[in-house]
Amino acid sequence: MSTSSIDRYAVAGNPVAHSQSPYIHQQFAEQTGQLLQYERLLCPLEAFSSTVKNFANSVDDGAVSRGCNVTVPFKFEAFKLAQSHTPRARLAGAANTLRFDQEGWLADNTDGAGLVRDIQDNAGVELAGAKVLVIGAGGAAAGALGALLAERPHTLVVTNRSLDKAQALTHNHSAWAENHGVQLHTRPLQHCGEHFDVVINASSSSLQGGEVPVAATVLRPGGLALDMMYGAAARGFLHWAQEHGAHGRDGLGMLVEQAAEAFAVWRGVRPRTESVLTSLRIKFATP
Ligand code: NDP
Repeated sequence: MSTSSIDRYAVAGNPVAHSQSPYIHQQFAEQTGQLLQYERLLCPLEAFSSTVKNFANSVDDGAVSRGCNVTVPFKFEAFKLAQSHTPRARLAGAANTLRFDQEGWLADNTDGAGLVRDIQDNAGVELAGAKVLVIGAGGAAAGALGALLAERPHTLVVTNRSLDKAQALTHNHSAWAENHGVQLHTRPLQHCGEHFDVVINASSSSLQGGEVPVAATVLRPGGLALDMMYGAAARGFLHWAQEHGAHGRDGLGMLVEQAAEAFAVWRGVRPRTESVLTSLRIKFATP
């Protein structure tokens, strides 16, 4: 780590204004006694690669760019930009964390580890033997699938608006699912099954202000329904879950846990997450 310059990081996405990553990483930096800058990088939809490369090569007032997080909708593109990939990023074919190593960029994917940690450690819900539904087949679902399967649920169903993308995702994970003894299926949104123990909305439906894209019969009373979205945009999903007897959970816990994992990739130290998650929950409490 450099002592003469400040290391600089960013979250790259579109939209990105809602991202809490700058706040979270500043909290981690203070907690671990490290000096860094972290900002938002809005990337035009057709110019992700050039925007991130400019950021990586720029030196801002002595601050040197060391890496970035990647959010909607660029996780597949981010994977392709890197020269080396961690095994979990390779399984996902998508990256949410880039590290600008001098010998070439490293792509990692911490979304799955963050999600599983939030479900099992923070929410106290066991995935082993469970019946799990994942809605969505974009970068977030791709990042989550490997880690979910590794916990050996009984069944995992992937459903998506564009069924071909869900099929491609399950195809890429079929050997991994078999190795872990999990029944992995693709089903259309309208017929994705009923009474799941864990329902995960990994689609952008809430971010875009849309309806929950599946029928309430997917829920099991007492089961967990987690939307990766958070803040006001997640309220519709949480209300829907609670109305049908499930425990609603937003994506704040996953957000903090995946960030802690990314911080460890960049800085070599894993920060504690409880106090940061608590402060975010206060920040996002319903007025
Ligand atoms: P992508 O753009 O890669 O994928 C979007 C996915 O959502 C696709 O499967 C798409 O379907 C689906 N989708 C979009 N709009 C709708 C809709 N109105 N109804 C149903 N399905 C829809 O985005 P990401 O996968 O990167 O992100 C998805 C969400 O997860 C975002 O809201 C993001 O903020 C959140 N997220 C949260 C994280 C956290 O830590 N809490 C981490 C990662 C993501 P189709 O294939 O048909 O286009």
